[in-house]
Amino acid sequence: MYNVKVGDTLHRLAYQHNIRVRELLNLNPQLFDERSYIQPGNTLYIPTSNKLEEIKEKRGECLKEFSPLDVEKYMNKWKKYNHNSVVCENIGYSVMKFPLQMVKIGTGANEIFYSGGWHSNEWMTSKFLTEWADDIIEALVFNKKYKHLNVKELFEKITLYIVPMVNPDGILLVQQGNYQAHPYYGVVKEINKGSNTFDHWSANIRGVDLNHQWPAGWKIEADESPSQAWPRHYSGIKPLTEPEAKTIYRLTKQHDFTHVLTFHSQGQLIYWGYRELEPEVSKTMAHRLSLKSSYLPVRTADSDAGYKDWFIQETGRPGFTIEVGVGTNPLPFHAYGEIWSNNTLLAIEGLLL
Ligand SMILES: [Zn+2]
Repeated sequence: MYNVKVGDTLHRLAYQHNIRVRELLNLNPQLFDERSYIQPGNTLYIPTSNKLEEIKEKRGECLKEFSPLDVEKYMNKWKKYNHNSVVCENIGYSVMKFPLQMVKIGTGANEIFYSGGWHSNEWMTSKFLTEWADDIIEALVFNKKYKHLNVKELFEKITLYIVPMVNPDGILLVQQGNYQAHPYYGVVKEINKGSNTFDHWSANIRGVDLNHQWPAGWKIEADESPSQAWPRHYSGIKPLTEPEAKTIYRLTKQHDFTHVLTFHSQGQLIYWGYRELEPEVSKTMAHRLSLKSSYLPVRTADSDAGYKDWFIQETGRPGFTIEVGVGTNPLPFHAYGEIWSNNTLLAIEGLLL
């Protein structure tokens, strides 16, 4: 018998044990289908693998949910390189005290910031940023080119900061659901009106939308949004109340980012403006990102209080929201192929703007 742990899902367990999800379902008839949550407190029968060849996820493939545990795994891998251009740092903690991890790549004076995993049901952006960073780091450490790019030379001019997963608590909730032993069991149950599915949840674990928390038209956005903790779109009682948002605020204040890219997943679009406060060059830069991705540049979503809105207002510099993928979040695993192929070059272009 296997005791389910924090972060486990059917797909993750199947992958780890080199078996198929249907084999798990066959042995555990209490599970309804492949989307069923498995949670701490549950026990499962896990069949032994009889396959000779190991199933291995390739780049551009998604065979399982990408969780905070994966971010940790990659960070540990990168730390082992012990390379002076790759620094992993824990920059803060989520509400549930999960570390908010950042990787800093490069030693150049020009500072750029990429972030993802703001919204719980958009965890594919975390997977993309982490795996893309892994390729870049590998090229840098082993002195190879990446997609014709001289990585070593580039990262002597720039420093890229990546926080791949801003909202680990919410991401775990979408992947594993709510359960008795969950530290926010009662809070989450109340916010979700007792419902036991979480695909629609994009907020942090306290029901605050981390991309509605920013002091740029905050009141306007808050007045048009739910007035209490909610699975999505609630702005909080005031700007920057949540530790995840505060951490990104502090990071941004400590640095001199020339521009920022924040990754979300809805619509295959690139938003580049905010209330006409963006510099003129933003439009050209968005066009360049578009040419490398096929995503459509759009000036604004007519919304306020997002991180890129605040960044533009605060610094007068370019900020972009990259909306990868299209469809209902969380996107199905097979959507990842498009995300990988359309954003690999976009993310490189973002370094050359
Ligand atoms: Zn989003």
